[in-house]
Order: sequence, then structure tokens, then C-alpha cells
Amino acid sequence: MPRLFTCRECGHKMRFSGQFCGKCYARKETYQMPNLWRGAAVIVFLLILIAIML
Ligand SMILES: [Zn+2]
Repeated sequence: MPRLFTCRECGHKMRFSGQFCGKCYARKETYQMPNLWRGAAVIVFLLILIAIML
């Protein structure tokens, strides 16, 4: 798993999963939340599905 984000509090390289920095436990930025990306992926998938059916 690549470490994509840098913690804005301590500079620790954070993994994609989890909602907190692994080192200082500061809350991640909204765009760094895995749930957000999972939701976006589902929406994109549904839009593609709809586009195919039309
Ligand atoms: Zn941190």
C-alpha cells in the first residue's frame, strides 16, 4: 500500500486507509478519507452503468 498523504500536523507519511494519522493521530483532511473515495467510485460506477444503458 503506497503512502499517499503527508500529515499536516507532524509530516508523517500516512497510508490511504484509516481516518487518523498513524503517528500523531491527528484527523486526516476530508479528501484523504478512504470512505469519500469509495463513495465517489460507487457514484462513477453507477453513472457509467446508466450511460451504457441509455
Ligand atoms: Zn501526524
